[in-house]
Amino acid sequence: NLTKLNMRPISLYPDIVIPKVPLGRLVIDAIKVHGDRVAWIDVSNSGEKYSFNRIRKAALKCANALYKEGIKRNDIVGVLCPNSCQQKILVLALALCGCTIVPVNNLYSKDEVERQMQIVEPKILFTSSDQINKLECCSPNVKVYIFGPNEKENVFLKFLEVGEEEGVHLDGEIDIMNDDLFLLCSSGTTGPPKLIQHTNHSMVAGTQITRRGAGSASYTSAPMFHVVSIVTMCSHLMQGSTLVLPHKNTLVELLELTQQYKVTHAFMFTPKLFEIMKFDELNKYDVSTLQEISIGGSPSTFEIKNLVKKKLDVVSVLDGYGLTEGMGIACTDVVISKPGSVGFVVPNVSLKIMDIEARKELGANKCGEIMVQSVQTAKGYYKNPEATKNMFEDGWLKTGDMGYYDEDGNLYITDRIKDVIKVNAVQVSPTELESVLMKHPKVSEVGVIGVPDTVGFAGEVPKAFIVKKDQELLEHEVHEFIKDKLADYKQLRGGVVFIDALPRSGSGKILKRDLLQMHQ
Ligand code: AMP
Repeated sequence: NLTKLNMRPISLYPDIVIPKVPLGRLVIDAIKVHGDRVAWIDVSNSGEKYSFNRIRKAALKCANALYKEGIKRNDIVGVLCPNSCQQKILVLALALCGCTIVPVNNLYSKDEVERQMQIVEPKILFTSSDQINKLECCSPNVKVYIFGPNEKENVFLKFLEVGEEEGVHLDGEIDIMNDDLFLLCSSGTTGPPKLIQHTNHSMVAGTQITRRGAGSASYTSAPMFHVVSIVTMCSHLMQGSTLVLPHKNTLVELLELTQQYKVTHAFMFTPKLFEIMKFDELNKYDVSTLQEISIGGSPSTFEIKNLVKKKLDVVSVLDGYGLTEGMGIACTDVVISKPGSVGFVVPNVSLKIMDIEARKELGANKCGEIMVQSVQTAKGYYKNPEATKNMFEDGWLKTGDMGYYDEDGNLYITDRIKDVIKVNAVQVSPTELESVLMKHPKVSEVGVIGVPDTVGFAGEVPKAFIVKKDQELLEHEVHEFIKDKLADYKQLRGGVVFIDALPRSGSGKILKRDLLQMHQ
């Protein structure tokens, strides 16, 4: 009983010693033992199979070719292309070279890519011909490589020809605690997007701490620009289990692939559960191999997890709570987690709850901001000292999530303090949408909130409350205005409502709770 012991929640498992090795090196060395077994099944490329050996050799050749091209430690490299196995191998090779990798969301509009590129100012870009037009803003001095399985002139194949399997590596020079390995885009709830800096050490920690649930064949639907995808890729390679990489990411595809490849473990973002719930053609598929489903990224209820568990007849539906800045924080346990909780803290993570106003630590069963400390925590936000300062309080990462733990150490998420919408478990910043909408000449004021998706299965969708400057403004004009400026998943699927004035606090802040009430 944590209350009696006056303790913070602890993990069910002992802390793990995190190897002090660069991520690329750790993965490349670990996969050696798995030989010619199948590591990846690339569904977007007719189910092409990649063995562990093939990945290892290709990553080493590619790294050596990159080195010959003059790409070196701490070079900032943007990667903007659709998900593919070649892209994953390239990322491993760039990691081996000690580069700072910036995965760019290929669903982003040109404007969104531009905003990200203005912050990172990459030196090198890897992109595909269908994405290159989004990069016109980059300086002409940037070296651009065209890359991807569908390209006629694919630089990846050239690298495989010229690269050697063994040779020059820069491992010795990589500063694993300080060099940025990844700059990952966060939604930027207070202005333009922010880039979360993960070092080799924090990424290695992420792959070790959240390592679990890999069966003979796993399925993951996370896109490459999300931290979950990178961590899953690395931990599966190290553990030696097969990963099925989907093409369309639909529920039907998941069921077909499960049947075809006898998938045992599936990771999906939480909103897929709602889709499974409503789907009534499950009996068309043989999904009997499926044992465990892992979900995360946005809230769900105990009821829905239980219903899906029964419907798919799996042993467990595990919920994982985390955030890009802090990676995996808590995870449910098949046997002892309590209903409604997101489970227990994972090893190497310290967690405390702080009173929102008084900023005093609270004990069990008291709700406040969830704060964490861990080796997996990001270093800060790239070129943004102000945001980095606000990210921490006395050395603890402020998650921006509200919650509490009970006397047994189960963690519960109750709300979000940070202003962020989760569409299909991917972050969308209301601030970003508001600033784009404000550029419309007929808009005077705007407030954006997330509302439950009642049409599809996205979980939440953005909705705008607009005060008109010009009374003639029509709803379709608003939709048209943002169509090409924002990625498809950021569009106002929750609708547009015109109001006379926005509810504001004394200090002028838009009262989002009041907007939510207006929606209900
Ligand atoms: P991201 O950095 O995009 O992964 O978003 C992280 C945020 O998603 C967290 O701060 C939470 O607000 C939310 N989140 C992630 N996992 C869960 C979960 N299992 N239950 C509830 N909310 C979650």
